Amino acid sequence: VGELSAAAEPEDVEVDASLRPRNLTEFIGQPRVREQLELVLQGAQGRGTPPDHILLSGPPGLGKTSLALIVAEELGAAVRLTSGPALERAGDLAAMLSNLAPGDVLFIDEIHRIARPAEEMLYLAMEDFRVDVVVGKGPGATSIPLDIAPFTLVGATTRSGALTGPLRDRFGFTAHMEFYEPHELERVLRRAAVILGVDLHPDGAEEIAGRSRGTPRIANRLLRRVRDFAEVRADGRVTRAVARDALAVYDVDELGLDRLDRAVLGALVRSFGGGPVGVSTLAVAVGEEPGTVEEVCEPYLVRAGMLARTPRGRVATASAWAHLGLTAPPDVLP
Ligand code: ATP
Repeated sequence: VGELSAAAEPEDVEVDASLRPRNLTEFIGQPRVREQLELVLQGAQGRGTPPDHILLSGPPGLGKTSLALIVAEELGAAVRLTSGPALERAGDLAAMLSNLAPGDVLFIDEIHRIARPAEEMLYLAMEDFRVDVVVGKGPGATSIPLDIAPFTLVGATTRSGALTGPLRDRFGFTAHMEFYEPHELERVLRRAAVILGVDLHPDGAEEIAGRSRGTPRIANRLLRRVRDFAEVRADGRVTRAVARDALAVYDVDELGLDRLDRAVLGALVRSFGGGPVGVSTLAVAVGEEPGTVEEVCEPYLVRAGMLARTPRGRVATASAWAHLGLTAPPDVLP
């Protein structure tokens, strides 16, 4: 396991199912989002109507899928799952929409990647609970309006900025997910340790939380790696010392930066003198898509005070230079 990024890996998918919080009470952190969502759901339940469509926006691994499932759970509704890239043809979406039962929740992950024709179908579905099914081809084609059941769309995106205006406007509520505080990640870890049967000591939890990049998915993954180490090389107890030694083996630094984070900072500092440099140039330098650098990597680097986005491009801060063990030029941002 060289790769400890925020993106989901096959092992996560299995373990995640057992670690997923099942209702709003079990959902740790994100106090603002939880409060807002509670109001949206309770208001709708009081009126006996499906709630407004909900958009969940934020970096990967912060719990968007978990929240979508919780919305359905809290409403006592069934949930259907799909993703933007899976909805390439409008017909795929039409089939899903026409199979919904009243009150169902439809979850579309990566909704910013939905194809244009499907997106246009979604407008009418979200607004009027209708789809227009086109029958025939060419000049003789006619469109037949079809009523569908009132439903709630929950969309998740790592790039709310990439959504078109008309799509964004049709969501009644947008939840902006933030990176988790270390004390919240400690709670995520304690909960996971109980479920997985890991002997996690408070100082061990603190050590792992501090290196989890503000991301519950990473916290849970690091816990599993540290557990392996504790069982194989120690007596199974996850103390601070064991966590430190284990994370050193997996190349997780004190800030929890992963390989891509370090590559981006390294390129920024070493190849571009600390910037400013455009995100596309930076992405080419590390061999990644600009979108990945922008949505997966940069949010945490900005939050950790390592990288600044300026009108002229990306700039490394003095802490970034220091983190790489280099001396910053005199005029660099603090
Ligand atoms: P992606 O956008 O990559 O799909 P996501 O934001 O949808 O990621 P989830 O799959 O919901 O993230 O969360 C990843 C895992 O992190 C969950 O299985 C769960 O174990 C844990 N997790 C996320 N949020 C919380 C939370 N608030 N409390 C406890 N555990 C959480």
